[in-house]
Amino acid sequence: MIESRNLQRHKLTLVVDDQEINRDALEMILADGYEFIHASDGIEAMEMIRKYADRLSIVLLDLIMPRMNGFEVLKQIKSDELLKHIPVIVMTAEKEAELKALKLGAADFITKPFDFPEIIIARVERIIELSEGKALISAAEYDRLTGLYNRSFFLEYINRLFHYSPGIRMDAIEINIEQFHTINAVNGREFGDEILRTIGAEIKDYLSEAEGIASRFEADRFDIYCAHQTDYQPLLERLQEKMNAAFPHVSVHLRMGVEPWQEGVEPILLFDRARAACNMVRGDYQKPLLIYDEDMHRKEILNQHLLDDLKAAVREKQLTVFYQPKYAIQGDQPRVRSAEALVRWNHPELGMMSPAQFVPLFEGNGLISIVDDFVWREAAQQVSAWHQKYGIKLPVSVNLSRADVFDPTLVSRLVRLMRENGLEFGDLSLEVTESAYTDQASVVLETVHTLRKMGFWVEMDDFGSGYSSLNMLSDMPIDILKMDMKFVRNIESNETDLRLVKLILDIAKYLRLLVVAEGVETEGQLSLLKDAGCDLVQGYYFSRPLPPQEFEKLIEKDIAIEKGRKK
Ligand code: C2E
Ligand code: MG
Ligand code: MG
Repeated sequence: MIESRNLQRHKLTLVVDDQEINRDALEMILADGYEFIHASDGIEAMEMIRKYADRLSIVLLDLIMPRMNGFEVLKQIKSDELLKHIPVIVMTAEKEAELKALKLGAADFITKPFDFPEIIIARVERIIELSEGKALISAAEYDRLTGLYNRSFFLEYINRLFHYSPGIRMDAIEINIEQFHTINAVNGREFGDEILRTIGAEIKDYLSEAEGIASRFEADRFDIYCAHQTDYQPLLERLQEKMNAAFPHVSVHLRMGVEPWQEGVEPILLFDRARAACNMVRGDYQKPLLIYDEDMHRKEILNQHLLDDLKAAVREKQLTVFYQPKYAIQGDQPRVRSAEALVRWNHPELGMMSPAQFVPLFEGNGLISIVDDFVWREAAQQVSAWHQKYGIKLPVSVNLSRADVFDPTLVSRLVRLMRENGLEFGDLSLEVTESAYTDQASVVLETVHTLRKMGFWVEMDDFGSGYSSLNMLSDMPIDILKMDMKFVRNIESNETDLRLVKLILDIAKYLRLLVVAEGVETEGQLSLLKDAGCDLVQGYYFSRPLPPQEFEKLIEKDIAIEKGRKK
């Protein structure tokens, strides 16, 4: 009885090393709780392993040995169905050898000489525990499509490499395919798979020369953990050229983000940054490679602050709404017709922030709905307050984000808002940016359609900034087209731009849409637009976005004009 308990406690350990002194050292270090057998070369080791396969808890394996080396032993163990469950820890003095051994399926490594007994004990214990708990990745797991490692194996592996061998300098690289969604949709999934396989094969090829490992994380996301280098342009070019050659009839553009090795920084963080860099060059076909740098790091920290601060900002009314007038310009005098509500954040530390500094950030994670909710509420109250104060209902437009458009509760949110403020649907216009129409267009069209049927005015914001074309307009359920500022900017000096503006105005007229020209800054622009038949104008020429009290001066001026006309 006692004996069998002892047997259970003593883990059978095979120590393989051609140097007796090393075997003795290890046995002294581990002593308690282990029972040892040894081998002094690979051939002997394989004999012992086969003999004790059922009982062996672990193999501690030297790599450099006469007759048959440790790599070969590893290969044989890991390719044998009966043996591959046995965890192997390799012992070596060379960094590169560690990586190679891990690739072959070693569970861990111990560095020679054996300077830190506690570490050795801890590792051996942990690996045995893991293997008994079956939690250990005893063999590499692969992505079926590309043959690269799958995500969980890759992550486990790079973490081990980092923790047990912090001296190795490894960079994190992420590669994505531009518009992979669209490529798939247009050419079919099988074609998409072929692209992924080709990239996978080329990365493997690359890694047969360079030191590192790679994974397909998901979809078109490839990650490479690679020995530090100074220039990644050649790698990107190599992959891109492969794409061009393999798919001559479809343009497959790759982009790449890199976060070079940094002392003590966890690999997972390196990959977060490589990913951030890779996302930042999305759509930038001229500069598809970005190395993460200090500026980006600062920006990320700032963004994290803003994310943390948002809820307090709403609670403490740090968010405020400014109003920018839209003027009707076709009469004898320009008149305030409506206003756009634009958010500002008066941050206690960072001062007054424009939406460009935080709207895209919150759009990326859906938190923008919190901002929008606040702004819509303020705007609705403002319309109602001005109605009471001046007896006029000045329509105000609010911006909708993609997250709002895809929010199934959008309609009920808006209905409740209007009711609570005693408003009719026509008192609020909804600005939906053009780019929201481009993906999952049918969902957007349906939502917008419903809102219009209820009586909301819908404006298409930033028209011309993205991909929608003039001929799509006829299907769009909208009332007003807001022409992007870039069209207006150069109409005074550039004949083509002016002709384009006229063309947009003509088509809008034909489709019975009102047009707002955004970003009008000069008298010259105004008069060209007026001559071309543009209905409404918004821009610094008339007014910047203003806090409500200041905006009231514009309303009062307009009321005075009205009175003057009636006299
Ligand atoms: P947008 O909806 O196209 O708003 C017009 C932007 O153009 C505003 O910038 C406005 O200040 C600016 N602008 C107006 N006239 C001129 C001009 O003559 N020249 C120039 N250079 N700029 C002019 P702002 O307020 O910084 O807002 C930027 C963008 O942020 C908005 O573009 C909109 O997309 C977004 N945004 C603003 N408020 C909100 C909000 O409450 N919710 C959401 N989701 N987005 C918002
Ligand atoms: Mg807008
Ligand atoms: Mg706009």
